[in-house]
Amino acid sequence: MKVYLDSIGCRLNQSEIEKFAGQFRQAGHVIVDSAGEADVVVVNTCTVTSQAASDSRQKIRQAARAGDAEIVVTGCWSTLEPQAASMLPGVRRVVANPQKDALVSAVLNLPEAVFDLEPLAREPLPGLHMRTRAFLKVQDGCDNHCTFCITRIARGEGRSTPIQQIVAEVIAAQQGGVNEVVLSGVHLGSWGSDFDRPLHLSHLISAILKETDIPRLRLSSLEPWDLDETFFSLWENSRLCRHLHLPLQSGSAATLHRMARKTTPESFASLVQQARTVSVDMAITTDLIAGFPGETEAEFAESLHFVEQMEFAGGHVFTFSERPGTAAARLAGSVAHKVRKQRGAMLRDVLAHSTHQFQKRQLGCEVTVLWEATDSVGPQGWRLHGLTDHYLKVTAFAPRRLWNQFSRVQLIDLSDDGLLGILAGDGA
Ligand code: SF4
Repeated sequence: MKVYLDSIGCRLNQSEIEKFAGQFRQAGHVIVDSAGEADVVVVNTCTVTSQAASDSRQKIRQAARAGDAEIVVTGCWSTLEPQAASMLPGVRRVVANPQKDALVSAVLNLPEAVFDLEPLAREPLPGLHMRTRAFLKVQDGCDNHCTFCITRIARGEGRSTPIQQIVAEVIAAQQGGVNEVVLSGVHLGSWGSDFDRPLHLSHLISAILKETDIPRLRLSSLEPWDLDETFFSLWENSRLCRHLHLPLQSGSAATLHRMARKTTPESFASLVQQARTVSVDMAITTDLIAGFPGETEAEFAESLHFVEQMEFAGGHVFTFSERPGTAAARLAGSVAHKVRKQRGAMLRDVLAHSTHQFQKRQLGCEVTVLWEATDSVGPQGWRLHGLTDHYLKVTAFAPRRLWNQFSRVQLIDLSDDGLLGILAGDGA
């Protein structure tokens, strides 16, 4: 059987479809790179914003138009709106988040235990998802109550994967050819807090670095209140990527309070300072929400100024959208849609400027790049696209296709799509 897997939204969704791919492959099926060639299409949906929910429906309709595959829908949007999902064309099955781990065995009508025996090797997915990084879900759900967040409602309570299972999955990923593992979770920083004998995420990171040889370990999004000073000593090991994604959401104390975020601009700034003490060029990226209910001109100005000061290496700006069922959807002081968009554009401009400055500071440096994508440029060789451990995009040319290999690269110029480099020495 041919299976096409598609995903909207966060890295956790990506991690889940990679796991589905491993299970379908283990059962003898083939992963294809378009819905048109597939017998079964699985769409892992998202509902974090109204746009993400709309994109999820669009993906399902596109899959239905592409052929006559049986469509299986899962993820946060279809968990909250199962009726709407089941009525879309081609949809035969809707699998809610709590049953997601058993999706492949349900589709194949196999006992769930079939996939429990040992960790499955991970291979990059074909087509759009042909990445060299493996996204590993180590935690799901969240016990916080950020007022804008629909994800915690769709994902349920926080729960963590045991340490030895994760270490075994990292080893399996590496045996499958993976050189970089990204630890993912809805609330990754809470990993281990639900165990009978609670652990901290730093225990997990230390164990992976000690018990595996994975060349690069990256952390996905971490809530700022989950980290303390001791956490930063982990970066003594250079296999841990010097990249932290810390969602700020707003740089105004009053807005953060209405969001029920457990942080303040002062504590966030102190964290950023600690991170930069450990590694002066630590890449810190963030998420921001523009036009949260009650955000006054003064609060927005305070937030914009704070974002400028943080000198982020990149980030995402979300224009606030009311998600039914969240506390924020019921808050007074709705900001006009036009104003939300204007504020979003201003935040994006500030982030674009600081990203550019961060990239500029790297010019002239020699860095290690893991090549993720390659295009042939004829007899001259290959155009390579990859990432540094700072999560900087680099493009270079080489006579050989160095896909999924590391190269030392001298950064020489900036383009609209990141940094341009030349291979240093023999490049390997
Ligand atoms: S920490 Fe807040 S934003 Fe993140 S998943 Fe939990 S409730 Fe949502």
